[in-house]
Amino acid sequence: MEQNVIDSLAINGGAKTIIRSFPWPVYDESDVQAVADIVRSGKWGDPDCADRVEAFERAFADYCGTRYAVTCVNGSVSLRLALMACGVKPGDEVIVPPYTFIATASTVLEVNCVPVFVDIDPDTYNLDPAAIEAAITERTRVIVPVHFAGQACDMDAIMAIARRHKLRVIEDAAHGHGAEYRGRKLGSIGDVGSFSFQSSKNLTSGEGGIVVTNDEALYRMMASLRNVGRIEGGQWYDHYNPGCNYRITQMQAVLLSQQLKRLEEQTRIRDANGRLLNELLSGIDGITPMRRDLGETLHCYHLYMFRYDPAAFGQLPKQRFVEMLAAEGVPCSAGYPHPLYRQPLFQQKNFMCYAIPETVDYSQVYCPVAEQACRDEAVWIFQHAMLGTAADMELFAEAIRKIQRVVA
Ligand SMILES: *Cc1c(COP(=O)(O)O)cnc(C)c1O
Repeated sequence: MEQNVIDSLAINGGAKTIIRSFPWPVYDESDVQAVADIVRSGKWGDPDCADRVEAFERAFADYCGTRYAVTCVNGSVSLRLALMACGVKPGDEVIVPPYTFIATASTVLEVNCVPVFVDIDPDTYNLDPAAIEAAITERTRVIVPVHFAGQACDMDAIMAIARRHKLRVIEDAAHGHGAEYRGRKLGSIGDVGSFSFQSSKNLTSGEGGIVVTNDEALYRMMASLRNVGRIEGGQWYDHYNPGCNYRITQMQAVLLSQQLKRLEEQTRIRDANGRLLNELLSGIDGITPMRRDLGETLHCYHLYMFRYDPAAFGQLPKQRFVEMLAAEGVPCSAGYPHPLYRQPLFQQKNFMCYAIPETVDYSQVYCPVAEQACRDEAVWIFQHAMLGTAADMELFAEAIRKIQRVVA
């Protein structure tokens, strides 16, 4: 290979394909003013005041099309609240995907239940409904579909399975703010929808989380658990349920209300850019966009994912490809290096929980699609880059073609 061709890659000192940066979080003076007003008011949080928290909860529930919403400190605690409210008992099984953030499974251990890993679909990297059905036992109580990357899971199939087996469904929509499945907002379809407002997420206040539901009993329990077990109308020192202080501040609430005003437009920009990128990348040998015809009427692209085939890139390992792509100026990552069940937490059974049967053994778990996604295939482009222009999307495709020209 000629030296000057190799040198043209940005990683080797050549010119970058994309010069601009992609700011995140997005804010302006109105956000600064909203937080400053709360600071000056001295009304920073409960027990004295929560009016801004309640206003945001109302606004987010309305946005999702649900009756209720309960904010909490993060998108892990929100999963925990949902699981507790669903009434799981020690040793119950909860079905989770292996291609997700740790909290989807670790919160199951926190409530003394057994995470059961079920493989993902290679075309979407979301839970495969057929595999869910095959994993159900008499101990199964809950399914936790993760709308990974902001792409809707096959909710019609999942809800049908849940109804057939009398299971609860908790949607982990930590990637799914604003996205839709057959015209319904993600998080509003199962028994509970859980969201994170951590700083990388599509709606953020630095940290934070929320659960949404249409079920009044689930709502009351989650609200109580979030507020040290107090109940609506109860006294300050009357604690009914084993909750904790998981409340957010008024500063977070006003920031979230501000950010929520931008969410729908940002989501539509990412969706349009994602559709464009799908077209552009389909023309590149060895690059396969995720499938997009399974009911996701609006995709919020928390991540834009595609499948990478090293064979079309001179056997260049995925990790090296991603380093080259990042050097070209595309904000990207190789994603999870291995499926969740390979974590020491599961392999060494560091559960700190005594309700998990001795027979549970994660050393035998093997989900081939998740393994392949982690090892060779999955490449992530981050959501803030999907807020760019159509011209930026053309350049993302050009950066991939440039790498291919050099290495293939
Ligand atoms: C971020 C995330 C969470 C948890 O969110 P935190 O707010 O960081 O606790 C849960 N599930 C998934 C899939 C996530 O990506």
